[in-house]
Amino acid sequence: MEIIKGAWSSLTGFWNWFLAQITAPSWDNYFYWLIGISVLVYTLEILNPWRKNQPRIRKDFFLDAFYMFFNYFFFYMIGFAAIAFAGEQLTLEISRKIGLGDLWFVHLNNLPIWAQLLIYFIIIDFTHYLVHRMLHKIPWLWSFHKVHHSVKEMGFAAHLRYHWMENVVYKSFSYFPLAIIGGFNLEFVFIVHIIQTTIGHLNHANIDINYGPLKYIFNNPAMHIWHHSKELPEGKSGVNFGISLSIWDYIFKTSHIPHTGRDIDLGFEQVDSYPKTFLGQLLEPFKNK
Ligand SMILES: [Zn+2]
Ligand SMILES: [Zn+2]
Repeated sequence: MEIIKGAWSSLTGFWNWFLAQITAPSWDNYFYWLIGISVLVYTLEILNPWRKNQPRIRKDFFLDAFYMFFNYFFFYMIGFAAIAFAGEQLTLEISRKIGLGDLWFVHLNNLPIWAQLLIYFIIIDFTHYLVHRMLHKIPWLWSFHKVHHSVKEMGFAAHLRYHWMENVVYKSFSYFPLAIIGGFNLEFVFIVHIIQTTIGHLNHANIDINYGPLKYIFNNPAMHIWHHSKELPEGKSGVNFGISLSIWDYIFKTSHIPHTGRDIDLGFEQVDSYPKTFLGQLLEPFKNK
């Protein structure tokens, strides 16, 4: 009874919070940032498309738009809070057990704000690069990550087509590096989240854009499309794993752009028989095969 009461009050609490969020635009309101970034990148797609013949409302546009809000908003707020708390407790517990206690390896407090933010961003992005490689290498993780690779026609919203389990995997692993840096500002989490969303939207966008020499630092559409290529180099489980930064792929020799990827075939083997609906894709990894 107590559990039901608790669940109900957290649900109504969430609902009230949700209403307050969407009725009160502000600079620290992620809902409006997500809409703003999406409108901006979609406008660039319309003004300067890479694949000129791709419809503006491409295949699965609405499916991906739904994923976008489900993954980055609803799930983030409902499920993430609990998982985040549990993950944090676990990391603290482990670090105490192995004798680290509250001794942080890196103290950020004394550095200028921009340097703190940069270090935080680089550590998080490197962790995500490693997790992404695992998602391709380990079969049960790949079965979840397949949802993201089922995109057949690329556009900005494809960025957020992924199974919610990826949220759990990425967030859980992010705690370990964060456990070794002390004193970082909680606002960084929000700022970096906005930067990641913008870069991620651009990576998947149908925009004819060249980053020049910056392509060796930032992930970009010309590079990320090869990550979604149906055909991979012999013996590789994937290429171009970088999330916001491409630099890791160049350092660890996982980069691959043999020629322009504008019109390459996307997906994986048997992608044509993969479920096409939100619910079907959500359940697919849990099926016994
Ligand atoms: Zn991938
Ligand atoms: Zn992608």
